[in-house]
Amino acid sequence: MSPLIVQGPIPPTAANATWPNVLHTRVADVIAQMKPAPWSKRIIADERQLVTLIASPPGGGNRPHWHSDFDEWWVVLGGVLEWELTGGTVVRASKDDIVWVPRGTVHHIKNVGADLSLRLAVAMPPAMHYFHACEQCGFDDDGPRQWTA
Ligand SMILES: [Zn+2]
Repeated sequence: MSPLIVQGPIPPTAANATWPNVLHTRVADVIAQMKPAPWSKRIIADERQLVTLIASPPGGGNRPHWHSDFDEWWVVLGGVLEWELTGGTVVRASKDDIVWVPRGTVHHIKNVGADLSLRLAVAMPPAMHYFHACEQCGFDDDGPRQWTA
């Protein structure tokens, strides 16, 4: 990882050969290295941002939660996803859509399509998760789970 402050301009010597913080990431290359979904892969990580590529199979999704100190946003790269949010809002998004959720709002993200879904999640470290049942569908998974945004 780069030092917090650098004296530029400098070439991109802080880039890694493998994730996170690769100079040029082809999503297809990440997918090719992963096992069948569900999976998540940290693509970018520094003191200000955590960017994660997340794949969910049809019917899959995250463990509903909220964050206290940062807003989170996603770019949908494939499939059809729904965000069930505190207060009754549902956002349905598909490829090339961007979804933003403010701090404090529970987000339960589900792949509601027939195909694999891919989303790029942008969060801030340390990305503390407060797990909370989804008020819309009641989903409340207390089991161990790999970090997903
Ligand atoms: Zn989140």
